[in-house]
Amino acid sequence: MSQHDASAGSRAPDESGRASAAGESGPRPSLPRSDEEWREKLTPEQYQVTRRGGTERAFTGEYHDHKADGTYRCVCCGEPLFSSDNKYDSGSGWPSFHRPVDEESVASREDRSLFTVRTEVLCAKCDAHLGHVFPDGPQPTGLRYCINSAALEFDPEDAT
Ligand SMILES: [Zn+2]
Repeated sequence: MSQHDASAGSRAPDESGRASAAGESGPRPSLPRSDEEWREKLTPEQYQVTRRGGTERAFTGEYHDHKADGTYRCVCCGEPLFSSDNKYDSGSGWPSFHRPVDEESVASREDRSLFTVRTEVLCAKCDAHLGHVFPDGPQPTGLRYCINSAALEFDPEDAT
């Protein structure tokens, strides 16, 4: 009964090697959990929009008139949400898409604020508020995902 226990006593490196390419797949263990942590990670505007359900003022966001090819990721967790392929100019002053990269990547729920019923769009992975979806978009979907620039981070790579 000789049981090997090589790792006994020696601490695995943690802080020193934290740049371990946590990119492509798999969960990111470092996602903030508390409100406090989100507040530290995000800019005040990003925090207000994504964690408080805020809306940036029309035509003030970084991406409403942004036409480069690439992927728009969740500013909170990095999940790819929208592609420049599906972006169009709605004239609304917010980045508009007729569909997400993947139906699974966004969640929606009814929003009854402002005396009307709208459909709120959230990041399916981290629950960040992204914007709203309206049924007045172009074909083939007929949908307009009206998204706050502050909830997005543009990644010029891997345009599909
Ligand atoms: Zn997210």
